[in-house]
Amino acid sequence: MTLTPIEQIAAQGGPAADEVSGRFPVVVGVETKPAAERDHLMADLRFGEVFSDHMARAVWRADSGWGERRLEAYGPKAMAPGASVLHYGQEVFEGLKAYRHADGSVWTFRPTWNAARLNASARRLALPELSVEDFLASLVDLVRADVEWVPSEEGSTLYLRPFLYASESFLGVRAARTVTYDLIASPCGPYFKGGFHPVSIWVTDEYHRAAVGGTGAAKTSGNYAASLLPQLEAAERGFDQVCYLDSTNTHLEELGGMNVFVVARDGVVRTPALTGTILEGCTRNSIIQLLRDRSVDVHEEHIALDWLVEALRSGEVTEMFACGTAAVVTAIGRLAGRGFDEQVGAGEPGEVTQSIYDELTSIQLGKLPDRHGWLYRLA
Ligand SMILES: *Cc1c(COP(=O)(O)O)cnc(C)c1O
Repeated sequence: MTLTPIEQIAAQGGPAADEVSGRFPVVVGVETKPAAERDHLMADLRFGEVFSDHMARAVWRADSGWGERRLEAYGPKAMAPGASVLHYGQEVFEGLKAYRHADGSVWTFRPTWNAARLNASARRLALPELSVEDFLASLVDLVRADVEWVPSEEGSTLYLRPFLYASESFLGVRAARTVTYDLIASPCGPYFKGGFHPVSIWVTDEYHRAAVGGTGAAKTSGNYAASLLPQLEAAERGFDQVCYLDSTNTHLEELGGMNVFVVARDGVVRTPALTGTILEGCTRNSIIQLLRDRSVDVHEEHIALDWLVEALRSGEVTEMFACGTAAVVTAIGRLAGRGFDEQVGAGEPGEVTQSIYDELTSIQLGKLPDRHGWLYRLA
């Protein structure tokens, strides 16, 4: 089996935290919040509302490359109103998590996957690449400086958001010659407060997130901006999330920020193939691996909507789920679109969905052996 370019880089692992730490030193004079204020902020965590004390930053210039790397205080930064990211959206980002294990140590999951994907996205958006070593160093240095911000409550994590954007003040349309890499961190509560509820999905044939040759395989802001109106309209119809089709409205692609899986009664699991219009999710890849470890037949292939609707009606498809770093796994309980509205399974998360969620989160939390070397110790 041939590996994708992201899989190849991810498979090489990377230098250990102690080999790269110190590349992003703290600038002097950063004030940190008193413990009592931090505890108060971390008492009732949701997603992406609270931020830690520091952020990592490095600036690239076309004539001199990457300059000084540092940790600064998290907070508003001056940016020119002419900065080209604000006009043309030249930006890419990543999302990963730091987990606190029972012994207090802090780990992340397959960070070289995110490093490789950041660079793949950067190439598509004509942004400079950051070395795997610098990417890892930014995670290590930020998490070590803000280690008190890694929650210890089970299911809570420190969400890490690296991003790269055109910070040059210039309104001409060309690749920016000044680019900023920032990493911010946000302590987050369990994604499913009150349990693991199946969500309802609206399959849109009116909007598309990606077309061949477009930016669908890049993790870039514009894809998300374009998903907000379809999401609002689906919510007005009473649905939780949108699923996109390919631009001919034939095959299933993915949700706005999650990949999708289909489980059949005969045990075969299907997920849309990486055709260049789908984001190559780390969670998707990890789930495929865990299923194959169980000798499950996993097909990465085109999934025709017509087939899927018929298979839901006949009971041939018994489970569907979506996956991504933030929620890990989300059971899909209802799939509807123009001309169909089908219940998926029995209203409860199916056996495969639940077991793959349990297995993956147990590996991430160090409760099951890390057979594939996916965990990376940060602190
Ligand atoms: C980030 C993202 C995913 C999930 O990727 P993970 O690496 O599993 O977090 C899936 N689809 C899209 C469009 C995304 O942006």
